[in-house]
Amino acid sequence: LAKSQGGNSYQFYVANVDQRIRETKVLERQLATAVEDNQLQLVFQPQVNLVTGEIRGAEALVRWHHPERGMVSPVEFIPLAERTGAIVAIGEWVLKNSCHALRRWLEAGFHNMTISVNVSAIQLHQSDLVGMVKRLVTETGIPPHHLMLEITETAVMENVDLAIRLLKQMKEIGVQLAIDDFGTGYSSLSYLKKMPMDEVKIDRAFVQDMLEDPDNGTIVDAIIQLGHSLGLSVIAEGTETLDQIKYLQECECDVAQGYYYSQPIREDSFLTFLSNQRTQIKNATQRAAKAT
Ligand code: C2E
Ligand code: MG
Ligand code: MG
Ligand code: MG
Repeated sequence: LAKSQGGNSYQFYVANVDQRIRETKVLERQLATAVEDNQLQLVFQPQVNLVTGEIRGAEALVRWHHPERGMVSPVEFIPLAERTGAIVAIGEWVLKNSCHALRRWLEAGFHNMTISVNVSAIQLHQSDLVGMVKRLVTETGIPPHHLMLEITETAVMENVDLAIRLLKQMKEIGVQLAIDDFGTGYSSLSYLKKMPMDEVKIDRAFVQDMLEDPDNGTIVDAIIQLGHSLGLSVIAEGTETLDQIKYLQECECDVAQGYYYSQPIREDSFLTFLSNQRTQIKNATQRAAKAT
């Protein structure tokens, strides 16, 4: 393609690839010390119960504040971290800080909060992931069922037997498990039944245009029914509009997460968000009480 554009564009293309590889190497090296250099931060995206309208918890999402590049997206650096193995230290940092955040929320009086934490496929192969989760839960004193580990469908399918074994051990600790980005992988339904999952998370790709694309609307509805028939709760990610929320409610989806409610935000903003919503619910309840 580059060559057909004539001139030196092919060479230029090669030089670009070369530069990209070099840049990636630099990033990978810097990523190795990102934890100890205090460059990571968590942001939290609220998850809303579609029946009660209450915030049931949040997903913790990691951010990398790079000294020169500013904010680097996890979409860019998580795959690098997975390749170099830095994901093990990053994953532990994320889990530890998520448990601590949850403990602060529970202490602040938000007793029903759960926190969802992404766990990468590489972490599943980490020598003692189960031991680490157990230790962190004990150290922070959080009730284990308030911690929800999100594992992508693809990660689970990479090594089904290993995944089932590890997930069962996780369930013994008492944490909850969600299958993330559901619908994008190729899991067979019989496997889903064997997994000790608590929640299915419908991938944003289906939610995004489910009202414009009837096929995706049908898929979303089908995943919700499937999840429920297996006794799982279902959460839709990437909900951006009120119409999407309404459709999900019609399909009896349990929980929604997306820009319609809030972008991922810093912890102080999240706590403000929680307090405000609490006041709103209280006011609404009082108004309803006065009306009767
Ligand atoms: P994910 O786990 O599927 O997380 C949801 C992503 O969708 C987040 O992107 C979130 O900001 C974005 N999102 C949420 N609502 C909306 C919406 O309404 N519209 C749109 N357009 N996007 C929305 P983010 O934070 O950039 O994270 C991207 C991915 O990076 C995550 O996808 C997850 O796979 C990975 N990731 C993030 N944090 C971690 C982590 O701590 N550990 C691991 N292993 N992976 C992480
Ligand atoms: Mg996730
Ligand atoms: Mg997801
Ligand atoms: Mg996703």
